[in-house]
Amino acid sequence: MTNQTPQTARVFCIANQKGGVGKTTTAINLAAGLAKHKQRVLLIDLDPQGNATMGSGIDKSTLAHNLYDVLIGEASIKEARVKSGSGGYDVLPANRELSGAEIDLVGMDQRELQLKQAIDHIGTEYDFVLIDCPPTLSLLTLNGLAAAHGVIIPMQCEYFALEGLSDLVNTIKRVHRNINPELSLIGLLRVMYDPRVTLQQQVSAQLEAHFGDKVFKSVVPRNVRLAEAPSHGMPGVIYDPSSRGAQAYIAFGAEVIERVRAEKK
Ligand code: ATP
Ligand code: MG
Repeated sequence: MTNQTPQTARVFCIANQKGGVGKTTTAINLAAGLAKHKQRVLLIDLDPQGNATMGSGIDKSTLAHNLYDVLIGEASIKEARVKSGSGGYDVLPANRELSGAEIDLVGMDQRELQLKQAIDHIGTEYDFVLIDCPPTLSLLTLNGLAAAHGVIIPMQCEYFALEGLSDLVNTIKRVHRNINPELSLIGLLRVMYDPRVTLQQQVSAQLEAHFGDKVFKSVVPRNVRLAEAPSHGMPGVIYDPSSRGAQAYIAFGAEVIERVRAEKK
């Protein structure tokens, strides 16, 4: 308790340019998992699909403001954020309007730094800011990577997963070199894991051999409760806390907190 300066939030992107790998499920459930561990969390929906918004129980079609307004400087995060009633965290929501930001940002100075500048104003209000990235390496994703301290990569242990991973790791290195020297790979999270499938065991072992302790110890199983939860407007962690999927994400939340503590030492 000697440090009197207010702590600023750790900002993590949940990213993988591959579609449907479990980014949004991870973002929502990590947000809810961290909230269960008494952390103050803001979840930023950086995807025009608005899945993280809807999955947090927020209707994307009736928003007063959304992330688009923040990126083009027409609203602050304070004005645009909404509480996820079910999840215990705040959401900076998005909907299809956000796809227009790609075009509007192109003409702006420091177009890749708009999200970072917005987050800088609210950093001390949260312990964690999580950014749910779209399945692209677009200007939106670049705004996410430019604003973050680290990247969490959810991945399925499939044959082509490792190949896609090297593109993403190279992108992280490039952003680190050119735009954001604070950016690092926090870790790889194995999701939708089925230990009965031999190929998945093999890919998982390869991941550990190649990335060592960058591979999180928590493993998220394939679990239907996690897939059902969004249609109830709730994170799986809240919808069915005792399910194997929820338990895995709660454990993952504890692992992330532990990793951040270890970093600070
Ligand atoms: P996109 O690239 O479109 O943004 P994404 O990477 O965010 O996709 P999700 O939307 O999280 O992926 O997940 C894709 C689908 O897989 C969803 O239907 C989700 O409910 C389901 N899913 C995710 N994780 C699990 C899991 N551990 N067990 C079972 N189903 C899962
Ligand atoms: Mg998604």
